[in-house]
Amino acid sequence: MAKINENYLKLQAGYLFPEIGRRVNEFVAANPDKKVIKMGIGDVTQPLVPTVVKAFHEGVDEMAKAETFKGYGPEQGYAFLREVIAKNAYQNRGVNISADDIFISDGSKCDTGNIQEIFGNDNKIAICDPVYPVYADTTVMSGKTGSYDSGHYDGIIYMPCTSDNGFIPDLPSETPDLIFLCYPNNPTGTVASKEELKKWVDYARKNKSIILYDAAYEAFITEEGIPHSIYEIEGALDVAIEFRSFSKTAGFTGTRCAFTVIPEGLKAYDSEGNAHDVKPLWNRRQSTKFNGVSYPVQKAAAAVYSEEGQKEVAEEIAYYLENAKIMKESLIEAGYEVFGGVNAPYIWVKTKNGMSSWDFFDKVLNEANVVGTPGSGFGPAGEGYFRFSAFADRANTIEAMERIKNLK
Ligand SMILES: *Cc1c(COP(=O)(O)O)cnc(C)c1O
Repeated sequence: MAKINENYLKLQAGYLFPEIGRRVNEFVAANPDKKVIKMGIGDVTQPLVPTVVKAFHEGVDEMAKAETFKGYGPEQGYAFLREVIAKNAYQNRGVNISADDIFISDGSKCDTGNIQEIFGNDNKIAICDPVYPVYADTTVMSGKTGSYDSGHYDGIIYMPCTSDNGFIPDLPSETPDLIFLCYPNNPTGTVASKEELKKWVDYARKNKSIILYDAAYEAFITEEGIPHSIYEIEGALDVAIEFRSFSKTAGFTGTRCAFTVIPEGLKAYDSEGNAHDVKPLWNRRQSTKFNGVSYPVQKAAAAVYSEEGQKEVAEEIAYYLENAKIMKESLIEAGYEVFGGVNAPYIWVKTKNGMSSWDFFDKVLNEANVVGTPGSGFGPAGEGYFRFSAFADRANTIEAMERIKNLK
């Protein structure tokens, strides 16, 4: 008899985006003449930049000739890509990360989920509430939790992030072994300062915990002094794994390339308290279960770090951030309390008069014909908030904001 992994039965149905889709389809069917503007989903809309496309083409051409054809690549990723990442993303910022600490993958979604496999199921996991849903769901799949009850899985430490704590979680009363942090944050669009991250690094060092730091939106940081990497914090090399992705940075959501950084010497412990290096475990996991990202994609990713690539990608990010600025100003003008949008492509809005996230969704859809994402879909502490994404095109962004300003 085939037995299923019963942890999957604990998972709540993927409710958020299907429910948004259902309500939007219903509205469109009833109002075929209305133009609906979508600012819900966190996906980019601008094409790959020219320098990336050129490298991508060249990679394909190399695959087309016997002399330059490539079969399986190194499981950890090609050295040419790991080296430009180490230099540009880390060493140039004074961070001691080498190419050998970097593992190329096809996405941070996979990496943040897969990483759980190298840690035992007796780890207590802390996650922010609200946050990117992948951390909680993969924690459940891996068997580290009990059942679900009123927005929470038993066994996960939820750390509320609201305007009261500036969207930076307080140190939890129960001590976690693994701590997921995501800055710039999805969905709140907020960032963490060096001082705030230092508090977490010190806490992890004291408790021999590991911080799983998702920096998928690092490239959107515009303000001086905001750390781009957890490793800019003193002591973090001993207690943090960092996830980065080309998805939002360079429009790779459909191209697929990301990387995970595990510093040399980062330790976790066995049941007798003996320390073990984490990097060889991840290397073993990846080389057993993953055969690498395609060569043309890795060439395209490396081109992001060329001088022209950096310039072009920065222009695209500036485009999205200009959208975010327009949105933020319009929403403030319309009387909303607004967070994020300066160092991230998300605007996190507090609804007026304590309106629920879903009631606000219906109001914005029905009266302004604009689609956003209810904050409660990212966790119970997101109730009463709403996420607008800055990834729409400029004309639609402006039109959507005009309509929201005219809401009664
Ligand atoms: C979009 C996103 C990612 C990127 O995932 P990929 O699999 O690399 O596309 C990672 N983390 C967060 C919080 C995101 O929003």
